[in-house]
Amino acid sequence: MSRRRQIYEGKAKILYEGPEPGTIIQYFKDDATAFNAQKRGTINGKGVINNRISEYVFTRLSHIGIPTHFIRRLNMREQLVRQVEIVPIEVVVRNVAAGSICKRLGLEEGEPLPHTLIEYCYKDDALGDPLIAEEHIACFGWASNEEMQDIASMAIRVNDFLSGMFAAINIRLIDFKLEFGRLYDGDYSRVILADEISPDGCRLWDMTTNEKLDKDRFRRDLGGEEEAYQEVARRLGLLQNDESAQGEVFDLSSHRSKLRGTPKPKK
Ligand code: UDP
Repeated sequence: MSRRRQIYEGKAKILYEGPEPGTIIQYFKDDATAFNAQKRGTINGKGVINNRISEYVFTRLSHIGIPTHFIRRLNMREQLVRQVEIVPIEVVVRNVAAGSICKRLGLEEGEPLPHTLIEYCYKDDALGDPLIAEEHIACFGWASNEEMQDIASMAIRVNDFLSGMFAAINIRLIDFKLEFGRLYDGDYSRVILADEISPDGCRLWDMTTNEKLDKDRFRRDLGGEEEAYQEVARRLGLLQNDESAQGEVFDLSSHRSKLRGTPKPKK
């Protein structure tokens, strides 16, 4: 085992000190949590797939000019990223009603929203990441107005780009969560996209069948979560049909039945 210094262990990732100042290594675990970590489990191979999906998505986003913390993937479970000061806000972008907004506002899951919504939550596990207004962000100084403008405009660009990218592989982007960090250059700082983008933090539904291809399979005990994550990676062209996250021979067709049985939401 290496002796590098662990900086932080989160629910799905471990952060280690990077090889050069200002860098960090993100190690992707197979651990899965839901409902503010009240439900815990493992999704075999998830870390490998999320590392690869997040690398792919961040690379594509950087090609359209979104600044991100991603530097390069190091191996199956690790990537090198820029060290940033995390803005303590979860930015949730929603195209279709699902999850917490349905409970909160009495919406039916699968209802398209009149237009894309951006919501903010305060990143605090002990408080259960409460929903906040922009006024709270300004009032408590969690981010400046200028930073919030940059964050909101990046979130919209990411949503437009990812909606198209997923639509091209017959997946509907229902909602997702982003995190941003401050990169300092002397006294000056700018916000860049940080954390990860993977089926852990997105709702992804097959456009034809409405099958869920994301962490809701784990949250709701639907089964087939490993296959769902692999299916997203496969459609993105990141996994061969017969290649599993562990590099074993894996026949998706024999597991597909596990992805069925999801009630078909209304059109
Ligand atoms: N999300 C996330 N981490 C969180 C909360 C939400 O990645 O701590 C993602 C979640 O996967 C979904 C979107 O943000 O894609 C909206 O989640 P929602 O508010 O519906 O919360 P949840 O269903 O987790 O209660």
